[in-house]
Amino acid sequence: MLIKNIDLVPIDGKNEVIKNTNIYIKDNIITHIGEIREDIQVERVIDGKNKIAMPGLINAHTHIGMSLLRNFADDLPLHDWLTKKIWPTEANLRGEDVYWGSLLSMVEMIQGGTTAFCDMYFFMDEVGKGLEESGMRGVLTRGLIEDNDAKAKLKETKELFNNWNSKANGRIKVMVAPHAPYTCSPDFLIESFNLAKELNTGIHIHLSETKKEIEDSFKLYGKSPIKHVYDLGILDLHTIAAHCVHVDDEDIEIIKEKNVFPVNNPGSNFKLASGFAPVAQMLNKGVSVALGTDGSSSNNNLNMFEEINLAAIINKAVNLNAISVPAISALEMATVNGAKALGWNEEIGSIEVGKKADIVLIDIDKPHLYPHHNIISSLAYSVQASDVDTVLVDGKIIMEKREVKTLDVEKIKFMAEKHAKDLITR
Ligand SMILES: [Zn+2]
Repeated sequence: MLIKNIDLVPIDGKNEVIKNTNIYIKDNIITHIGEIREDIQVERVIDGKNKIAMPGLINAHTHIGMSLLRNFADDLPLHDWLTKKIWPTEANLRGEDVYWGSLLSMVEMIQGGTTAFCDMYFFMDEVGKGLEESGMRGVLTRGLIEDNDAKAKLKETKELFNNWNSKANGRIKVMVAPHAPYTCSPDFLIESFNLAKELNTGIHIHLSETKKEIEDSFKLYGKSPIKHVYDLGILDLHTIAAHCVHVDDEDIEIIKEKNVFPVNNPGSNFKLASGFAPVAQMLNKGVSVALGTDGSSSNNNLNMFEEINLAAIINKAVNLNAISVPAISALEMATVNGAKALGWNEEIGSIEVGKKADIVLIDIDKPHLYPHHNIISSLAYSVQASDVDTVLVDGKIIMEKREVKTLDVEKIKFMAEKHAKDLITR
């Protein structure tokens, strides 16, 4: 395949736009970027006129089945939102609900330029099925909240790993997901860690999301949640740490020392009034902060361009510093840093020869994107999810001219609505 005459934002460590170039793809690999090569046979040509190519966006923390609870419980603090509305409803969830809710989210993500995600939820086999069908790339993690069924949930995680890890041409990975230190005892955190170690995989956990969580942790353990899991040894494995909102200097030192991957979820953190993660401080220390949407019932969408915009502008306001988290840094959070968090940085996260072709084409022939002064600024500050035109994952076109090729969008909308209505009246 050849993507011809396109302006490319490779996100390869340089703050650059390569004008009017050509991208060759063979099978799922980017084989050449640059001048037209007459010696390469091409079966398919995509015209890049008035388009920008960029790496597919990576949503590094989400709960995609929660789309069924979008706009169902809002304007509540995290604790009440979870304990009074979300958890009681989720207790009635069935596998089929999660299947249709996840597909709804995948359509939304594809249409918004997201090519890979890290999901934490239940009925993860259903998410695996949807992931395989959609053509997307993803990390599946079964959320582990410690209760009487805790042992069974660990067993389920192991089965999930055996069923899905490395499947779909390597597009699927499985990690272990103890939900948070406030829903898992130290013993259970260690059991989860041991399972991840046995499976030779990583951990996906929520850390230091709210002030209440920090206060409770100090009351219970005399230390911050991050220090707590550090002392338990949990951070010795590859760790994706959602939120890291309320972190102090010692916490940031730990994150740096253990090469933890914090995931900033600005939309969710603001909406639940959780606070501001010190993203600029962490980036300045060399920490790879990734970006996520969290679930679409706390956001209330899976629009990564919105998160890029929020990450870039809010840090400026909070730090009273207009150069804090510049456009390129916010784009890196949503691409290369996300790839590192998901343990896929050798394969995806930037557009370079040898990497897998997870590529998004943005239509810049839109009034709100003219004039074309600075494409990188445009991507962080002006582009909307609806400007995504074409999406490739693993060298395959999964959306073209905004038409999703892999999924039946009308059927998914219908079935998601049906299951959502049924769920809340069950
Ligand atoms: Zn979350």
